[in-house]
Amino acid sequence: MSNALPNEQPEKIYLPRTSESESLKKIRHTTSHVMAMAVQKLFPEAQVTIGPWIENGFYYDFDKPEPFTEQDLKTIKKEMVKILKRKLPLVREEVSREEAQRRIKEINEPYKLEILEDLEDPITIYYLGDDWWDLCAGPHVENTGEIHPKAIDLESVAGAYWRGDENREQLQRIYGTAWETPEQLAEYKRRKEEALKRDHRKLGKELGLFLFADPVGPGLPLWTPKGTVLRSVLEDFLKQEQLKRGYLPVVTPHIGRVDLFKVSGHWQNYKEDMFPMMAEDEQAALAEQGFVLKPMNCPFHIQIYKNELRSYRELPMRLAEFGTVYRYEQSGELGGLTRVRGFTVDDSHLFVTPEQLDQEFLSVVDLILSVFKSLQLKNFQARLSFRDPASDKYIGSEEAWSKAEGAIRRAVQTLGMNYFEALGEAAFYGPKLDFIFHDALDREWQLGTVQVDYNLPERFELEYVAEDGIRKRPVMIHRAPFGSLERLIGILIEEYAGDFPFWLAPVQARLIPVSEVQLPFVKEVAQKMRSLGIRAEADTSGERLGKSIRNAEKAKIPVMAVVGAKEVEANTLSIRTRAAGELGTIAVAEVLEKMENAIANQENF
Ligand SMILES: [Zn+2]
Ligand SMILES: [Zn+2]
Repeated sequence: MSNALPNEQPEKIYLPRTSESESLKKIRHTTSHVMAMAVQKLFPEAQVTIGPWIENGFYYDFDKPEPFTEQDLKTIKKEMVKILKRKLPLVREEVSREEAQRRIKEINEPYKLEILEDLEDPITIYYLGDDWWDLCAGPHVENTGEIHPKAIDLESVAGAYWRGDENREQLQRIYGTAWETPEQLAEYKRRKEEALKRDHRKLGKELGLFLFADPVGPGLPLWTPKGTVLRSVLEDFLKQEQLKRGYLPVVTPHIGRVDLFKVSGHWQNYKEDMFPMMAEDEQAALAEQGFVLKPMNCPFHIQIYKNELRSYRELPMRLAEFGTVYRYEQSGELGGLTRVRGFTVDDSHLFVTPEQLDQEFLSVVDLILSVFKSLQLKNFQARLSFRDPASDKYIGSEEAWSKAEGAIRRAVQTLGMNYFEALGEAAFYGPKLDFIFHDALDREWQLGTVQVDYNLPERFELEYVAEDGIRKRPVMIHRAPFGSLERLIGILIEEYAGDFPFWLAPVQARLIPVSEVQLPFVKEVAQKMRSLGIRAEADTSGERLGKSIRNAEKAKIPVMAVVGAKEVEANTLSIRTRAAGELGTIAVAEVLEKMENAIANQENF
């Protein structure tokens, strides 16, 4: 069961695929030993610690006074290939604890003594050849000839502490990768390179969308004009969709009394993650009468609901806000937009009668699907996060849970969605529906969620007057199709590899004069475009044409319009798009009309 509070950021932005076969695990584990053996042959002073297999490969931690260099990695790999070619058998031996201690002392490796202390009997060691061995429980391949020398590589060196304890010895960790075939290794390298190219931290910088500044602090992105335009386009798009579907916009403050968050339960469960950060004694003082930055919007929207006694006629009530919240995330987890300390949730809280839950849930999912469609996110699954029937840690009645889970299941079935059920993944207050998106590199990212909540209506004693005049408790739905603007933009940058669809691009068109003579015409057309809501800019750099075109390409601007003497004469533009290449010379009026249509229909130009 997840203890997640409503709209909590997922633990990981993407969940790497873990479909590794047993034989691949054996290959990776054995290759790590081969690397350790090679290292100790080349650097006899190096001490071996631990070396597990991991996703895509393996690592080993070494204690060695001199740092490993790039050249060292090459030499180590050559030595590894020699070991593989010798087809050395891996021989398992069971020994007594005393015998293990004796052999460790013989080779003088104190780290192994510490490792031995944690091992349970029987102690097993594996020999690789006649004289190199390590404490290990396996499993391995039979002999090193089973590992293809062209299917392995060494990747990088990083610092690590013994036992992950910063007060202990500083070690050097060598990361490597190992596969069954050279083709698999090549495919892995291609994907890795592609992922680096698409990295939103790198692209975000190159496209000038956002930045982090040390004096501001980690996890606190600053949005540039271009990035802010992108945010606004996304916000306006969802706000329009919501208005069409009967949502009511609200705005709530960034701070609120601690007491509010005691009623909601955030303070009890979550105070280490709330700002301001304080020592424990200060926290105690704050707990009495302080104000905190909001980590979530729900309690504020609840106050708006509670402001009047509501009638069933007013329900469902859908309060929506792009609410900026602040959460103290560990600084080690902060990198790019995927996990940040201040972020804007496309939040909404729907207050519904139990009878309305089914229909309302369906409408929410329908909205989310239409949002994904507009964003061209096609490949996703719905995860139905339900309770574990064997656990009693959930609040709310059996009947309420069955109904809520039924509503979620019916919604995805009605909409014909690709879904799977995950028992035990529900929040304690209710089941949820999570959207798991598979990107162009087949990585998994969690996008928005919809959550059914019986808990907060109870804690805040929410009511409505039912048709029969009796006061009843509404059910709440928390939902955020984007999750957060920050996370969504990070995902979109990677999915599009920086090539935003025309309707989303921060700059949609750049007009480039062949020489300064055409500049007044270019400026005039750009201004006309802007007056029609097209995000156009004139290239006033004075660069040579070739350079200007390259600059526009680097900035991944969807439409480039080149203007020479002929174009001015005929009132035309020479159009080149990223999606379709050269379109030739087109009349200005026609370009404007096509652009307006493309934006309205969210199509490419
Ligand atoms: Zn092993
Ligand atoms: Zn909420």
